Amino acid sequence: MEWRGRRESSNIEDRRGSGGGLGNGGGGFRIPIRAGGGGGIGLIIILAVLWIGFGINPLSVIGMDGGGGSPQTQTAANRGPGVQGTADETDDFIAVVLADTEDVWSKRFQNIGQTYRDPTLVLFDRQVSSACGNASSASGPFYCPNDQKLYLDTSFFQQLSDQLGAPGDFAQAYVVAHEVGHHVQNLTGVLPRTTELRQQASETEANAISVRVELQADCYAGIWAHDTQNAGTLEDGDIEEALNAASRIGDDTLQRQSQGTVVPDSFTHGTSAQRVEWFRRGQSTGDMKQCDTFEGRL
Ligand SMILES: [Zn+2]
Repeated sequence: MEWRGRRESSNIEDRRGSGGGLGNGGGGFRIPIRAGGGGGIGLIIILAVLWIGFGINPLSVIGMDGGGGSPQTQTAANRGPGVQGTADETDDFIAVVLADTEDVWSKRFQNIGQTYRDPTLVLFDRQVSSACGNASSASGPFYCPNDQKLYLDTSFFQQLSDQLGAPGDFAQAYVVAHEVGHHVQNLTGVLPRTTELRQQASETEANAISVRVELQADCYAGIWAHDTQNAGTLEDGDIEEALNAASRIGDDTLQRQSQGTVVPDSFTHGTSAQRVEWFRRGQSTGDMKQCDTFEGRL
């Protein structure tokens, strides 16, 4: 992606080095969707831990898009270089991508007579406190609708590249665009509606709803890629990097990697094939109507 010298968003809150305002550093918390066989109890315990022990409401936070169950933990200690090698460049790159999403979505909302409100992107390391509760880096990037902020520890990009096999700047851009996709869902009312539905649903049903929410965010990331492509700032291989990333963080792929087996009922983000398909749908059509993941079979 051609990003150097382009506008950087100012909607970035850098909380790195602050410890997230949590008293105790704590240990490597992560979300292991390791629901051995049947699934139920393990997941319930995990959700309970999330809720009670860690202070985050699993039904209010959106994403935890680090792919639960991936076999590694990460901390600030292995924060690594992102785009082209330096942390500063990664920061600049993220700010350009965020600015790009602001431009794309403002225009699209304007076209339908609505106003886009820019979200804030919070950069953190180790742990962070959000209006949806406290979270750790190991949870992966996420969006909190209560404060309309995206939360990202850029060490996730290192993990994405080295451990999940999705290198490249546009893989990173896809992650940011996916979280922005959740913000779009918040503004369109999809998030509030689905959060309510999930609260009334069984665990399996709630997971199925989550998959539809996540795939729509992938489709919206594709919409952003479509518009960016039209603007002429993409480079050869960018779309492939995003598609590869979408594939690498599919639930089936992550579960197979971490536990050797796949438990479809526990999927919260969709399979690799689904994530690729929905990103591609948005990217190839540029039509938000094509991103209705709530109709029919996926
Ligand atoms: Zn997500």
